[in-house]
Amino acid sequence: MTHEAEAYIDDSRELRDDDTFCFSCTPDKECFTACCHDLNLVLMPYDIFRLKHRLGITSQEFLDRYTSVHVGQGSGLPVVMLQMEGPYLKCPFLEEGKGCSVYEDRPGACRTYPLARIAARSKDREGVDEFYYLVREPDCQGFNGGRQWSVREWKEHEGIAEYNEMNDLFGELLQAKTETGVQSLHADQIELFYMGCYNLDEFRRYFLEGPNLDRYMEPEEVVKSISEDELELLKFAIGWVKKKLFQGSCFACGLPPQE
Ligand code: SF4
Ligand code: SF4
Repeated sequence: MTHEAEAYIDDSRELRDDDTFCFSCTPDKECFTACCHDLNLVLMPYDIFRLKHRLGITSQEFLDRYTSVHVGQGSGLPVVMLQMEGPYLKCPFLEEGKGCSVYEDRPGACRTYPLARIAARSKDREGVDEFYYLVREPDCQGFNGGRQWSVREWKEHEGIAEYNEMNDLFGELLQAKTETGVQSLHADQIELFYMGCYNLDEFRRYFLEGPNLDRYMEPEEVVKSISEDELELLKFAIGWVKKKLFQGSCFACGLPPQE
């Protein structure tokens, strides 16, 4: 989970649900919370959704206060990262001596460690094929004398399923960009992507409260459901961005995707 996590991925073994590994992360470890510093932690749309609810702030406030935005290498799309703070580059949600202050709503990457999920969608098959690699961070003592887990048990214990489900939805959007062969997007289209995926309160204002013709093209029950349920709104927003940017011309900004 550190800035070099990819370098520590053990890709010699693909772990599926019934495969096992040994790990225990407990407060008595000398390394306790050391891993919550100096992270390059990419936030997914659902991570932001959970954290902004946890903190009781708007998505705009969350993005302004806790994140930095980068341009994805290759994709050219905005990538939102959790901003570390202070001289020791501490995660803003780490309470020294206590642990994670947002534990029940911590990001998917924090839950999944020491596993890294690899998910692929095939054009010919429904659903996602997933497996996991172990990430062996050199300073992590969790592998010393850890209890045995199956991947399935770890996923249940850490509450990973709903994060995976939402990340797969986001993955479909990224895959749609790849499949269209679109190399770069206009600034307006990038803004639309950022708003729909990360700034959900702004998307609500834009789609449900503003003079947006698209709203009237949606069935009444869909508009009702996304008005009343914010998770449904996030799912809708991700699908809507996909449709707008990669499945036809972009009516929102009046521009076709750039080749
Ligand atoms: S055991 Fe590993 S995951 Fe747990 S606190 Fe230590 S470094 Fe972090
Ligand atoms: S969100 Fe919690 S678990 Fe994740 S890095 Fe921050 S303090 Fe650690």
